Amino acid sequence: NGPSGLVSAHGGSVIRGNGPSDTGSGLSAEAYCRRHEITVIGDNVPPPFTSFEATGFPSEILREVQNAGFSSPTPIQAQSWPVALQSRDIVAIAKTGSGKTLGYLLPGFMHLKRTRNNSQMGPTVLVLSPTRELATQIQDEAMKFGKSSRIAVVCLYGGAPKGPQLRDIDRGADVVVATPGRLNDILEMKRISLHQVSYLVLDEADRMLDMGFEPQIRKIVKEIPARRQTLMYTATWPKEVRKIASDLLVNSVQVNIGNVDELVANKSITQHVEVLASMEKHRRLEQILRSQEPGSKIIIFCSTKKMCDQLSRNLTRQFGAAAIHGDKSQTERDHVLSQFRTGRTPVLVATDVAARGLDVKDIRVVINYDFPTGVEDYVHRIGRTGRAGATGLAYTFFGDQDAKYASELIKVLEGANQRVPPEVRELASRGGGMNRFRRWGPGSGGRDGGRSDSSYGGRDGGRGG
Ligand code: ADP
Ligand code: MG
Repeated sequence: NGPSGLVSAHGGSVIRGNGPSDTGSGLSAEAYCRRHEITVIGDNVPPPFTSFEATGFPSEILREVQNAGFSSPTPIQAQSWPVALQSRDIVAIAKTGSGKTLGYLLPGFMHLKRTRNNSQMGPTVLVLSPTRELATQIQDEAMKFGKSSRIAVVCLYGGAPKGPQLRDIDRGADVVVATPGRLNDILEMKRISLHQVSYLVLDEADRMLDMGFEPQIRKIVKEIPARRQTLMYTATWPKEVRKIASDLLVNSVQVNIGNVDELVANKSITQHVEVLASMEKHRRLEQILRSQEPGSKIIIFCSTKKMCDQLSRNLTRQFGAAAIHGDKSQTERDHVLSQFRTGRTPVLVATDVAARGLDVKDIRVVINYDFPTGVEDYVHRIGRTGRAGATGLAYTFFGDQDAKYASELIKVLEGANQRVPPEVRELASRGGGMNRFRRWGPGSGGRDGGRSDSSYGGRDGGRGG
């Protein structure tokens, strides 16, 4: 069972292991976790370090922490440090600003002390980060806290000349912080070796996957010996992240801070939800398409390949549409995507799987012709518009058969200050009973236990991207 097996919190393994209960601060581990909304999943999970002294970090690190003016570890640090120090794989889920960076950096420094590798032969610690800005922030933090331990930190990111970065590598690096694209370029030039890496961090894993870095990440991981510790830090825990975690991590411990199940949609997207009968959808779709500025890039999501093909056939003459789904060959997909990117076919009809990793920046409208099998996918789909400060527009057709998602959808709409149509409230009150929290409960059959994918015969099962 991988880290996605949330059921283990109540089932097979033990939620709070047999960890001793004294945390050194007078508060029991249990009470500390309750107070800070920490939940852990895994076997024999050690109790949190509620003070810096409890960590056993060497004095030079403790001094830096003191210099920074920090009074105690943040909850994600308190619980991920003892796990990471046991050299175990970890998935840490906590919102932005919760101190995740030091959560992996300080145990990484301890790891470095143990390995005593030669930095000229390549890094021991590798941190992957989605953007240049984040990578340089991590580098700053690593240099600040690693200075007195003489830890050499190098940062590799795109959009800047390679020369100085290559020279930095040649001078020797204990820690490399890199964006996946640039690191791959440098790997292809054979100017860096990852054969010494034994501590791998995927920071902001959700964002890296959103940005389409999954293939690059997998390529990089192939260069790293399997005998390693892998740590994944993420603000959200969607399917894609769970999948890559189960592929890359071994016997991991999962640490959650707060209600990680809360879904948050981008507030710059205007979300229209319309309760419609199936037979009304097509007419309404055409109406929406006609009302858009000509040439606007639009994605229409539907749940079956058949529906994808049918819609794109119906729409293509008037609007310029093409379909993409798991039955299309890679060549076809590449062609369809490039036509979409250039705006030659501004309407793309897609299944979720085929749209995964799709990196098209100027999408104006997302239309959910069929509601997805979960509100998480909904948030993910509409997140394809409204990127990089632009405003986006989402239209969603919602039917009786989707009633079970109504209450959760309402939370997302309200969370983003969107109008909730009375018809959706009506569906929710009529006992669209399943809400995501119930799925956490004992005997829920796992995180996805309440889903009904299997009832959709034609659902796109192929791997996209
Ligand atoms: P995240 O990666 O979770 O978004 P960061 O690691 O960037 O968060 O940390 C956010 C801010 O909190 C940074 O300025 C960092 O220096 C600070 N910080 C980290 N650990 C602590 C701590 N134990 N106490 C107070 N502030 C901290
Ligand atoms: Mg961070």
